Amino acid sequence: MSVFFERLNARAVDESGRRWAFIPYDQLHDGIGLLAECPPGDVGIVLVETDWKPRQRRYHKQKLALLLASQRHFALEQAERGVAVRYLVGEGHHGDILRAAVKELGPLGMMDPAERELRSVLEPLVRDGLLRVRPHDGWVTSAEDFTEAMAGKRQWRMDGFYRYIRKRYGWLMTGDGKPFGGRLSHDADNRKQWRGEPPAPQPPRFDVDPVTAEVAQLVESRFADHPGQVRAEQIPARHRDVEALWAWTMSQCMTHFGPYEDAMSTQSVQLFHGRISGVMNLHRLLPARVVADVLELDIPIDSKEGFIRQVTGWREFVRHVHRETDGFRVVPEALAGATTRDAPPLDASRPLPPVFWSGQSGLGCLDHAVQEVWAEGYSHHINRLMVLANWATLLGVDAEAVSEWFWVAFEDAYDWVVEPNVLGMGTYAVGDLMVTKPYVSGSAYINKMSDYCRGCAFDPKTTCPMTSLYWDFLGRNEAVLDPNPRMRIVMSALRKRAPERRVRDRSVAQAVMDRLDSGEVVSPADLSPHDESAA
Ligand SMILES: Cc1cc2nc3c(=O)[nH]c(=O)nc-3n(C[C@H](O)[C@H](O)[C@H](O)COP(=O)(O)OP(=O)(O)OC[C@H]3O[C@@H](n4cnc5c(N)ncnc54)[C@H](O)[C@@H]3O)c2cc1C
Ligand code: SF4
Repeated sequence: MSVFFERLNARAVDESGRRWAFIPYDQLHDGIGLLAECPPGDVGIVLVETDWKPRQRRYHKQKLALLLASQRHFALEQAERGVAVRYLVGEGHHGDILRAAVKELGPLGMMDPAERELRSVLEPLVRDGLLRVRPHDGWVTSAEDFTEAMAGKRQWRMDGFYRYIRKRYGWLMTGDGKPFGGRLSHDADNRKQWRGEPPAPQPPRFDVDPVTAEVAQLVESRFADHPGQVRAEQIPARHRDVEALWAWTMSQCMTHFGPYEDAMSTQSVQLFHGRISGVMNLHRLLPARVVADVLELDIPIDSKEGFIRQVTGWREFVRHVHRETDGFRVVPEALAGATTRDAPPLDASRPLPPVFWSGQSGLGCLDHAVQEVWAEGYSHHINRLMVLANWATLLGVDAEAVSEWFWVAFEDAYDWVVEPNVLGMGTYAVGDLMVTKPYVSGSAYINKMSDYCRGCAFDPKTTCPMTSLYWDFLGRNEAVLDPNPRMRIVMSALRKRAPERRVRDRSVAQAVMDRLDSGEVVSPADLSPHDESAA
């Protein structure tokens, strides 16, 4: 028998007279739901471990290991408290496995899971009254907050939502309703380059206990065909590991979080980012606790506000947008005319090139970011947005393929968060439904905000093809982007671009696309030199 089941069985308790709930994998905390409301001796919980989930797509091994190890440790921690735990293992989806359990235990309570893919396999049980759903109280804002924040708006924007909830909850507000630090957002101050100082902290490592070691071995053998590798010492699997990670984030990252939020470096994977999304998306770490702790920290306002904006603004906003649009399948009435995932506005139909799996294209920033993801299951926001999604968008890759790749590659990826970030923000595949314009750039941005260009075979000012791809992207999508007021300046610059340069942009872009499509490396010798243009 496995170490995990031996330990769980050793903690078995009398199951009679309890209220039972199914705990989905995004709710692994006893500070929320039924576990928070009742004494442990009155509650029974059902957890499901199934091969169905990992077989939906070839998830990074580290993500599977994080999810399984967290869920198993949560089960043991709850059993230790005196909660009755039914840990069900099967091959089918959660709905099938739970239907059998319900026959014995009766209808189960459940907080609404965030992942749509899970909700859809549970839907028949909900319809049959076998799962009784209530809102997921791990979130810091409610569906009503979103509705009120967006009332009367013809476009959904994170800024408007964030402004509303800052005032509604009084976060970082003075008694007379003004924002601390004089401004609601300090985003404009948070664009510093990082040149090695202050030193970037090293993320914590955790001792690997037998339960986590067993999960690591299971994932490596049963899902050997999945990409990536398990780094067990990087998995904050136990409650105390999560606490250690959060203590590290607060003490080592928070002071400098704001100013270096957009910086990227080959010297540090996360710089001053917190690396907490993996555990927060499982609710091993509660966002409400994170917010409360950060509000109390004695740190500069630009860091404090920047972090609060990410957690209470972006994170909550994308989850509401995903739920309200049923994953961009439905356009709410208020946004009539907005684009869904079925009708992407841009020219984007190319397959995802092999470099996203191999990390070998000859394009320094892209190769670095891809290699980092396969090594870590993680990279920070700007690498995701301005390197990975930027290259995919400039290359005209089908946005659904990009989204699937992100979902597979990152340890913190679930549809509610990956799809808004990739389809909504990174690739502009749902147009201006949640952002004003595409997030694309040429090599000037990468050269300014990172050290990637220094080690690259290309020169960002002369030979780098990213800038040609940028202009070519604008040209290919001129009809869609021209009417956008936020694109006026760049579209006007495009029109002024000399015809021969535009011809050259097209040929460089096509050459790069073709080489990458066939898995070949691009080198400066393949592309003749050109001038840097403001991009
Ligand atoms: C193309 C793309 C894909 C992304 N895919 C994911 C994903 O699959 N899962 C995921 O959790 N985040 C995703 N993000 C958002 C963001 O990049 C990550 O949440 C962040 O990098 C996680 O690292 P961290 O914990 O060090 O974050 P920090 O920079 O320390 O930020 C703190 C927290 O804020 C939250 N946050 C910040 N920005 C966002 C955002 N845009 N959306 C949601 N939460 C946010 C996260 O919970 C994060 O842990 C994506 C962003 C982009 C541009
Ligand atoms: S030169 Fe171009 S390809 Fe190389 S790292 Fe810089 S932006 Fe990326």
